[in-house]
Amino acid sequence: MQELLQQKPEIAEKFGDLHPPFEAQAAVVEANRCLNCFDAPCTSACPTHIDVPKFIKRIASGNLHGAALGILDANVLGASCARVCPVDVLCEGACVMHGFNEQPIDIGRLQRYAMEGFRAQGGKLPRKSDENRSEKIACIGAGPASLAAAAELQQRGFQVTVFDKRLLPGGLNTYGIAEYKLHLADSLDEIELIKELGVEFRLGVEIFGETSLAELEAEFDMIFIGVGLGAMHRLSIPGESHPGVIDALQFIEDYKTGKTTPVEGNVVVVGAGNTAIDAANAAKRLGAMSVSILYRRTRDHISAFDFEYRQALQEGIHFLWLTELMAIHSSAAEITSVECVRMEIDSDGLFKPVDGSTFHLEGNMVIPAIGQSPMLELLAQCRDVQLEHGRVVVNRTTGQTTNPKYFAGGDCVNGGREVVDAVADGKRAGVAIARLLEAIYV
Ligand code: SF4
Repeated sequence: MQELLQQKPEIAEKFGDLHPPFEAQAAVVEANRCLNCFDAPCTSACPTHIDVPKFIKRIASGNLHGAALGILDANVLGASCARVCPVDVLCEGACVMHGFNEQPIDIGRLQRYAMEGFRAQGGKLPRKSDENRSEKIACIGAGPASLAAAAELQQRGFQVTVFDKRLLPGGLNTYGIAEYKLHLADSLDEIELIKELGVEFRLGVEIFGETSLAELEAEFDMIFIGVGLGAMHRLSIPGESHPGVIDALQFIEDYKTGKTTPVEGNVVVVGAGNTAIDAANAAKRLGAMSVSILYRRTRDHISAFDFEYRQALQEGIHFLWLTELMAIHSSAAEITSVECVRMEIDSDGLFKPVDGSTFHLEGNMVIPAIGQSPMLELLAQCRDVQLEHGRVVVNRTTGQTTNPKYFAGGDCVNGGREVVDAVADGKRAGVAIARLLEAIYV
């Protein structure tokens, strides 16, 4: 995998870790602050239910290997989740220390400390069964949901093959998360653990069309759909086809994989979700003179987490609230400005343009980040798999779809949530597929 990467050295310089890792002594001191609560609200708040007090206690006693195995048992992507989870609203948000007016335990960084120690010591994922079973499972998509399902099944002795149209596995973990949160190389390193279990990866292979799916159905006993979401929504405004308009996920992928040259001039980002903020911060770090985020509603309506918003302010990003992008103007080669209109809230609570409020903003690059569409074309071809509003309908306990041979999880089911939610879905489906196959083929 590593040979496919051409990340430039300046990317590593500009995208150092947002939060520095723990030194050994500081980790033990922090671990010893944990009260080992018997009801562990932190564990309940984690979608994968990592036993937080248990792994923290192991860190306190110097057992990093044991701490990591505890994490991995619940969450096979424990290393990347330690870096990308919104801990403020999950485990750390639930920590009882808040009730004592104390800082919550630094769970995310302790988890990272355990996982990095485990990797440095050459730790491997354990098998959960000594059996080698003949049943084969295909996972479509190599993002977090598929990786979790694949690991769970392979650990239980099944034969798993993961398909992805891209050349690197990991989905958004590898291609779509700001480099200062999760380095591309670290995402790939984590996936090595899953490869070492024996999971086969067929990369650069697109499963599309009834023939491909029929071939897959013939070769595999069960199929897990973990395809995530598709392309970003279009702005549908004049000037959108200019090459200086690049959607946020493509922009993030390009700089992470070394394709983006330094960013110059003024950058306008449209949308105020976490991806918009990741793209805006990256544009600034890559050299943009100014970066403005335009949002048609108010600060109170943004979908980005509060800590992401505060981070963007620290990076020097400007926010223009109640501002809608109407057109992109360019001379032959360059975007020169963007045309906007002010919005207001009417008596029915609806946002509408203010008459005569049009204004122009200097802008040389436009990055739309207004959400992704579902992978409708592919999903519609999965025989007898029911969709609702573009999402795959599943049994929430098992992840099984309306076609018993197909299971699904992650963004294509939930519409786009956190990495840890996808991991929880994948693991749940992996367990359910294993139980089903074990019951059929005793
Ligand atoms: Fe430790 Fe906080 Fe979890 Fe209690 S809630 S077990 S103090 S991390």
